[in-house]
Order: sequence, then C-alpha cells, then structure tokens
Amino acid sequence: MTSRGSSLWDKARRFIPGGVNSPVRAFGKVGGTPPFIASGSGATITDVDGRTYTDYLASWGPLILGHAHPRVVEALRRACAGGTSFGAPTEKEVRFAEMIVEAVPSIEKVRLVNSGTEAAMSAIRLARGVTGRDGVVKFDGCYHGHSDCLLVKAGSGGATFDVPDSAGVPGDFAKHTITLPFNDAHAVEETLARLGDRIACVIVEPVCGNIGVIPPNPGFLDACRAACTRAGALLIFDEVITGFRVAYGGAQTRYGVTPDLTCLGKVIGGGLPIGAFGGPAAIMDALAPTGSVYQAGTLSGNPLAVTAGIETLSILREPGAYERLDELGARLGDGLTAIFGARGIAAQCHRVGSMMSCFFTTRDVVDARTAMTTDAERYARWFHGLLERGVYVAPSPYEAMFVSLAHTDELIDRTLEAAAEAAKEAGP
Ligand SMILES: *Cc1c(COP(=O)(O)O)cnc(C)c1O
Repeated sequence: MTSRGSSLWDKARRFIPGGVNSPVRAFGKVGGTPPFIASGSGATITDVDGRTYTDYLASWGPLILGHAHPRVVEALRRACAGGTSFGAPTEKEVRFAEMIVEAVPSIEKVRLVNSGTEAAMSAIRLARGVTGRDGVVKFDGCYHGHSDCLLVKAGSGGATFDVPDSAGVPGDFAKHTITLPFNDAHAVEETLARLGDRIACVIVEPVCGNIGVIPPNPGFLDACRAACTRAGALLIFDEVITGFRVAYGGAQTRYGVTPDLTCLGKVIGGGLPIGAFGGPAAIMDALAPTGSVYQAGTLSGNPLAVTAGIETLSILREPGAYERLDELGARLGDGLTAIFGARGIAAQCHRVGSMMSCFFTTRDVVDARTAMTTDAERYARWFHGLLERGVYVAPSPYEAMFVSLAHTDELIDRTLEAAAEAAKEAGP
C-alpha cells in the first residue's frame, strides 16, 4: 500500500538532500520514515494521510502556545496585509525589543536576527570584538547552532583546543574552541585560571536541551559566572530553548545567575524564523553602526516574525501561564516516571518546567558522557510505539519533549496510556 506520505518521502529524497531541510527530521536516530505534516491546531498535528498526533515536538521548542493560536494567526493575518518586509525600521521592532528588555534581566539592548544559529554566532563575534581575544569555551553536548567555531565536540574531555565536528569546518577555526563537560565547575575554574587571558567567552545552555534535558547542578552556573568575571571573559547564556520557556525571563531568572550576553530564538518567534541576542548597552553598542563589530540581516526584525513574537509574549505574560505550563509538565513528567518505575525500566526523567526528557539508563545523567549511556534502541522502540498510537515526540533519544499551553490534562492522560503500552512493547 502506498500512502501519500511515502510517495512524498520518495520525491523529497530526489529533490532535497536526505529528503529534509534539517538532518534530525529524517528519523536517522529512530529508523523508519517521517510522516509529512499537513497542518497543526492546538496540541495536535495532522499528516498528509489524515493521521493525527498529539505533538510534543513543538517544532523543536518554539510552539509554547501550540499550533495556530487564534490570536497569533489573527495578528499575522493583519500584519501580512500591511507588507511583509521593508528593510527599514518599524514601530513593532521597537515594541518587541522593549518587551524582551523588560523580561530578561541581563538585557539592556537587543539585536534581532533570523535564527538561533545567527544569535550565537553573532554573540561570539561580539564577545571576541569587545575582549580582543579569540578563545571560546563551550560544553560537550551543548548545541549553539551550526556556525563554524561552535560545531565542535569534546576531545578527550581535557582542556585542550579542539577539532571540528563537521567536514567543511577549518581546523584553524575550531582550534579556538575548548570543550568541557557540562556541570563540571572545576573544569571551568581550572581552564579559565590557566588560559583565561585568551578566552573571549564561555557559552552555555543554562539547561542543556540538546542532548536530552540536563539541568545545571546547584552552583554550576554560579561557578561559570565567577570564573568569567575573574578572567575578564564574557559569560553567554544560550537561552534559545530556555528563554521564555522555563520562566518568562528565562533560565537566568529561574536560577538567579546573570550572564553578560543572552541568545534567544525559538519561543520568541512564535513559530516564525527569528533569533535575538542582547546584553548591557556598553557591550551591545560595540555592534555596527555604533561600534566596530559588524553584524547585519536583510530580513532581521521581520514584521511577521516580530508580530508573532509580540503576540506570543503578550499571552505568556498573562498571570498563571508558567504555573499552568509547570502543572502540565509535571503531569506528563511524573506520569512517565511512574510508568517506567512500575515496569522496572531503568529510566531517568529530567524536567524543567515544560521541557523534559527521559534517559533509559541506570546512570545519573549530568553531562554528555552520561547522557550517551541511554539505551538508544529502547528509545527507538518506545518512539515508534508512541507514533503508532498518535503521539509525536522527538525522533531522537537526545532531544527534549515540550508541553504547550494548548495541551490539556485529558490529552496528557491519553498520552500516558499510550506511553505505558509503548513501554511494554519496548521490552524489559
Ligand atoms: C535550536 C538551538 C539553536 C539554533 O537555533 P536555530 O534557529 O535552529 O538556528 C541554538 N542554540 C540552542 C540552545 C538551540 O536549542
């Protein structure tokens, strides 16, 4: 039997490398072929063959209100009719910038870009520009987009300058990047004490969200802050996932640690392409046109993306939004923990508000190395069990699940029933 989805998959691979416009969509980590999505509404997506799924992928994080929120759609409809790009300043960009500055403690000025990749790449250029140093410290398993100097993983875990993670990245670029284990405060202190005068910045996801969800150990973010201050390096929080997700003001308000620069993306675009980076005026003014660090974008501050962002943040700042997200997140996260517990399946479910993931391992997951002990084959079986039952989670054991304000207690309870059956099938 051929479905519309499977013929599209054949055609997609003819015209698009690997059939997808971003690698992990191809189901390489779980096997099988991805459904082609035709539409989404609230917490539900529908594929081209008419199958519906409760969605916990949320487009990899942005859709904190669910799909096609009526207020976002209506605002976009009106914005579209008024023109979709001008390449000149607009009033809405200013309103949006003001909302971000009011929400995020470390940001006095913010520059809008078109993706999280651009935000992290530009924040690093800015950090290098203002410090006059080249070195960048990142953490193994933290993803900051696909720009050259950030596509670097850990070497042996030691504090040596690193090698690239992708063909096409010159070793000469990657050698400026040092990779350390997440949650290893001692490694940060030691590295900055030894090489601090060559380090422009330490960039970190304050909650790891790209190797599964790994919260920071108590004191880890504070140690990064203190070590950067001592070394005269900038601390960059990559809050592309956590910004407006784990709290309205991001992880920095949740954990009470203030970075120098903050990267945003995902949620702030309400499902449209956007990114942003911001910090103190004294640093941000080093950007062109006031300063000497060049950064630009034809579509930056795009009226549609900004419109979706303004509407999304307006809804999120209504009283009770984050309490509700946390309640829904707990219902799912605690439910999953209970299911695996009852079946004697070794699993660790980590949750920070409405983002979570489950590692199938007996190890305590605190960094990339321990995250990699998850049983990826069990995850693949569990994933397909869920998919067959109309539940869509990330097609990789190393990615997060997201709950939105469009999820309901009933939907989550049905997901838990599916999760229990899928867990049974996934084996002992
Ligand atoms: C998704 C993500 C990025 C990259 O954002 P894109 O919009 O995909 O370029 C950067 N940093 C983090 C933490 C992310 O999760």
